[in-house]
Amino acid sequence: MRVLVIEDETKVGSFIKRALEEESYAVDFCEDGAKGLEMALAINYDLLVVDVMLPSMSGLDVLKNIRRERIHTPVLILSAQSQIDQRVKGLDAGADDYLTKPFAIDELLARVRALLRRGASESPGILQVDDLILNPATRDVTRGGQRIDLTLKEYALLEYLMRHTGRVLTRPMISEHVWNQDFDTFTNVIDVYVNYLRNKIDRGRSKKLIHTIRGSGYMLKAD
Ligand code: CA
Repeated sequence: MRVLVIEDETKVGSFIKRALEEESYAVDFCEDGAKGLEMALAINYDLLVVDVMLPSMSGLDVLKNIRRERIHTPVLILSAQSQIDQRVKGLDAGADDYLTKPFAIDELLARVRALLRRGASESPGILQVDDLILNPATRDVTRGGQRIDLTLKEYALLEYLMRHTGRVLTRPMISEHVWNQDFDTFTNVIDVYVNYLRNKIDRGRSKKLIHTIRGSGYMLKAD
């Protein structure tokens, strides 16, 4: 799941970025409204976290522009102002949720999880492919009842593959949802991580779940 955070207070923004990364999200961080809008239009994010008061373009205008382009990515608005009219304006502009500063980071993470659940309404809470089970709420992964320990990046990659079971996922699709803008397209980092996952998920098992689609990318499926 890839998240864009647009927040001009560097401290707050990098704090949110770190907290989200610890939860396995891929996070881009931008301190300017117009630049943030450009990124939101260019990249297919799974969630946007947008501050209201921003240089060059307000968070509400960023939001209005995104919705005008028919981009329905869930948006969580952040604001220092607790006034009710700001909240109403945000929701009217197409925000999905609203958080007033200062907030507890745990509350932000809970709202992010709720918005991502809502955004991906076609996928139920627990993901299962054959005997491989992933629980997004606890981030527990098991295969055949056996617990599998994954790093944050391996987990993020597996969650993306499991949410799109049976579909060919190209390397650009994978990098867009699992890595942030620091991703270097000239490296083979996706193949390296798919191999890490294979070692943990498929090695020593008769039924392989991760398949290479020659010339295209990868697919997770039961056979
Ligand atoms: Ca601000």
